Amino acid sequence: MSETPAPPSLSARALAARPAPYLEGLNPAQRAAVEALEGPVLMLAGAGTGKTRALTARIAHLLSLGKARPNEILAVTFTNKAAREMKERLGRLLGESIEGLPWLGTFHAICVKLLRRHAELVGLKSNFTILDTDDQIRLLKQLILAENIDEKRWPARMLAGLIDGWKNRALTPEKVKGADAASFNNYGGELYTAYQARLRALNAVDFGDLLLHVVTIFQTHPDVLAQYQRWFRFILVDEYQDTNVAQYLWLRLLAQGHRNICCVGDDDQSIYGWRGAEVGNILRFEKDFPGATVIRLEQNYRSTEHILAAASGLIAANAGRLGKTLWTEAEGGAKVRLIGHWDGEEEARWIGDEVEAVQRGTRGADPVGLNGQAILVRASHQMRAFEDRFLTIGLPYRVIGGPRFYERQEIRDAMAYFRLAVSPEDDLAFERVVNVPKRGLGDKAVQTVQATAREDGTSLLEAARYVVASGRIGGKGAGQLRGFVEGVDRWHRAVRAGAPHEALAETILDESGYTAMWQADKSPEAPGRLENLKELIKALEQFENLQGFLEHVSLIMDNASEDAAEKVSIMTLHAAKGLEFPAVFLPGWEDGLFPSQRSMDEGGLKALEEERRLAYVGITRAEQLCTISFAGNRRVYGQWQSALPSRFIDELPAVHVEVLTPPGLYGGGYGAAARSAASSIEERAARADVYASPGWKRMQERAALRPMAQPRAARHMTIDLDAVSEFEPGARVFHQKFGYGTVLLTEGDKLSVAFDKAGEKKLLASFVVAASAADDVPF
Ligand code: ATP
Ligand code: MG
Repeated sequence: MSETPAPPSLSARALAARPAPYLEGLNPAQRAAVEALEGPVLMLAGAGTGKTRALTARIAHLLSLGKARPNEILAVTFTNKAAREMKERLGRLLGESIEGLPWLGTFHAICVKLLRRHAELVGLKSNFTILDTDDQIRLLKQLILAENIDEKRWPARMLAGLIDGWKNRALTPEKVKGADAASFNNYGGELYTAYQARLRALNAVDFGDLLLHVVTIFQTHPDVLAQYQRWFRFILVDEYQDTNVAQYLWLRLLAQGHRNICCVGDDDQSIYGWRGAEVGNILRFEKDFPGATVIRLEQNYRSTEHILAAASGLIAANAGRLGKTLWTEAEGGAKVRLIGHWDGEEEARWIGDEVEAVQRGTRGADPVGLNGQAILVRASHQMRAFEDRFLTIGLPYRVIGGPRFYERQEIRDAMAYFRLAVSPEDDLAFERVVNVPKRGLGDKAVQTVQATAREDGTSLLEAARYVVASGRIGGKGAGQLRGFVEGVDRWHRAVRAGAPHEALAETILDESGYTAMWQADKSPEAPGRLENLKELIKALEQFENLQGFLEHVSLIMDNASEDAAEKVSIMTLHAAKGLEFPAVFLPGWEDGLFPSQRSMDEGGLKALEEERRLAYVGITRAEQLCTISFAGNRRVYGQWQSALPSRFIDELPAVHVEVLTPPGLYGGGYGAAARSAASSIEERAARADVYASPGWKRMQERAALRPMAQPRAARHMTIDLDAVSEFEPGARVFHQKFGYGTVLLTEGDKLSVAFDKAGEKKLLASFVVAASAADDVPF
């Protein structure tokens, strides 16, 4: 692609004299994308070709040419982490801190800000609360029950999924028609309407509303839209292939005026179809914006040759794609490594050792620090094995986007208190903590408050105030409820008066008795919970006020720990989009887990292609070392399962793959299995031989000797441990803590045992031994 000359403006001449640092090293196509400032631009290119880098340089160019002020640039990234990184990169490029890019962030973060400014246009107040999934489900449950629908058959989660889907498609309740409205036992549309009304009454929104409301405002208030069309003079969007309909409409509305919109993406990396993303959006760009400049990049700067070739070979199996050629100057390097393990624990053990080996530089490459290494999993339940193993060997790690700190009970309770202090009418927060710690309020007292609120159309707090004053409830509970109401009033006044928020947060937890509740608790978890509460107060430091903090928490999709210490990262493949690491581990490549059986059951071939794109995203995160592994047995939600190596392993071009033989007695079998799987690209039929290998047979013999999964050449076989359990009802067993007991019932791998001293317990069979053997067990 030839270089497009910059317009000969004064500042451009100045730039030509001393090339701007952000233009240095860009290839001609990237430079063209940076310099084509006016009009629509689409950069459609493969992984690691420098799309994000060019997009960042474009912002730097706009700023340094004075084409736009920082607040006139709207830049959308996919995660908060990506937004942070882009800000840092810009700071480095421009040699100054760029505090002033207020509109660089995720769709959600940007929409929160817009909605706070115009909340009244959709019937909300500007201090609306953002509900998390838990609150949302609770609310939906109430509505389902109110309709007398059997929540067991028609669960709230299912309704939440439907509503989310409609919001992703920018459908307000009025627009949900036909089969959609008739879904959920005919109540879909009706419940959606009721839910939106209830949210409005609570002055609350859910995640999907953030976009939906803003799109609605833009569609119904042309004056507001026009104001932002003028305001955001340049629009830039990263990872455009993953926008859903609502996001697409939002962008199109904003860009219609000046048409200065630059979108970058890769159709091969579209991985959010399951959440409503439409890869068609990127393919339609030239139709939406006629005359668009389309730029394709082909040089990959991230990965070495074999890694890139393996990824390209894999994605070639997808039918619905534009198809691109990628090349790299980084010739040679390590092949993609493939290794098979007996089970998930062994895989975690091996990866733990390997991370340390890579860190020491004993893997034929330069040493790679922990920050440069990542483990990318398909399903978050895979993370636990790694966390456990790394804790055991003292390997520092961070989990990104995993089970989050903010989802723990004590944190959610504390946050409910903070939410009440900020918005006293937050009924969900009120319900959560009115009796935590116990305030002597029985169900009846709470029902009285709820009924009063319904009758009077007020918030629960107001209702509680009235109920206490009018003596509708009496006794000890009344006094404590009065104390609670007065507390919330006091805290709210303090928030409004701008009291220092960290001190206030601590006061709230003390005055409410919440901290004391955990101090008095003698359970083993209590000290940890108190630690977490301290952490929470610490986290507040970085924010200006409580509201800013609450907003942040509702928005974080990734909880990358901020400290600079070297740590290996564990995250899902979805969370790894756009990132890069010198060394990447991709565990769990087994059919059923990856590609995910659940996705394929729901989405068929389309879903399989999305899974393959996810594999492509995974491999292309690696710069120098990419290691794929699979295990023959895995414990998933308490059940042993055995599986075949992933079909994606078959699809990797064998010449770019090196098969490793795992250490240990039984590993050889999987080494052979892996070798056979990898080399079978031409001889797929030979794959069946995997299960005829001597190693595999040895493992079968071993499996027969112990109560464990029986590997079989069948897909997704769930093995019931009961079949091999030695315990029958009536058997005498011994448990380390509970002592001797008698088995009452066996249920899968669980037992009900009547212990002689400790009473009846349910536990995993593997935690007890036969009573006769108890003397021999070295506990
Ligand atoms: P993805 O599709 O995974 O999001 P991307 O196309 O956004 O990838 P970047 O993350 O922008 O790619 O770039 C990949 C790597 O290549 C980065 O480390 C980046 O700094 C580097 N890079 C990009 N362009 C160049 C260039 N012209 N010269 C040298 N390095 C480059
Ligand atoms: Mg990118």
